[in-house]
Amino acid sequence: MKNSAGQLEVVVARSAGTCFGVEAAIELAEQHRQPILGPIVHNPQIVNNLAEKGIPILERYQDLEKVNNMGFKEVVITAHGYPKGLKESLKQKGIQFHDATCPVLLKWVYGKIRTFEEKGFRIILVGNPNHAEIIASRSYGNGIQVVYSKEDVDKLPEYSGKTVAICQTTITKEKFQQLVNYIRETKYPEMRAIDTRCKPVKNQQQAVEDLAQWVDAILIIGGFNSSNTTNLANLAKKYLPKHTYHIDSPDLIQSDWLQNIEHLGIGAGTSTPKSQINDVQQRIAEVYSGKVVFRREGKAGEILDGDFTPEDEV
Ligand code: SF4
Repeated sequence: MKNSAGQLEVVVARSAGTCFGVEAAIELAEQHRQPILGPIVHNPQIVNNLAEKGIPILERYQDLEKVNNMGFKEVVITAHGYPKGLKESLKQKGIQFHDATCPVLLKWVYGKIRTFEEKGFRIILVGNPNHAEIIASRSYGNGIQVVYSKEDVDKLPEYSGKTVAICQTTITKEKFQQLVNYIRETKYPEMRAIDTRCKPVKNQQQAVEDLAQWVDAILIIGGFNSSNTTNLANLAKKYLPKHTYHIDSPDLIQSDWLQNIEHLGIGAGTSTPKSQINDVQQRIAEVYSGKVVFRREGKAGEILDGDFTPEDEV
């Protein structure tokens, strides 16, 4: 582990940083400069930058009733999607909207819900019931059950018809698989399961897992309220339980994290701007006493808009 030459190699995980959905959402918010129905993405730096430009950030749906009184005539819907009735409700209030919902949700997740329901399946959505994405997604079906723990599964009703599980786009495959297995063991043995994690999340999770297996320590950069960043940190902790550091600012880096190590990994969630990764790299170079060499692992995969997850049945 210790490098006698006093050189630290810093390796940035391939695909680290913002995905196409987040980049498009920020662009839309900056283009229209209208109040946003909640944090546009779960990254405080991005949200603060928009707020500093004078763009109001509203409480996701609580402020809806107040939008007219606040004098606003337009709003921006965040990347996490929107409950089914939202657009109609905005129209009735005479409020225009600009929709930054990620196309993965619009075309892939909501589409899957529609298709399976048409085929007579009952849908189990595996994800955090309090997350904006899940609150929105569950409204696109009839009686979708949301589960996020074994206790939630225990409460599922008896049912002998066709069932299918889909998941939050940012969940880990491990968590999805564990809950799918438990549902099959205890409730619906024939249940189908489709991994609806998006491709950027899949790529990042794999990249961090690969990196965490050989570096000496790893920094995971991104908002503490970001589900995908938190999941990256949890994945890294499997291999580096004492040397995984989730940070949302370069100022949090402590010099002793860099002592007596040779290889430091960096991972960053899909809502973490590339500029934040650069700031962290700069901070490492300032804090570390010896020579620092930076490199990016592998080629950053080109992920095109509309290049969704291939159908992965688990
Ligand atoms: S993480 Fe996935 S679902 Fe979320 S905005 Fe990015 S591409 Fe879309």
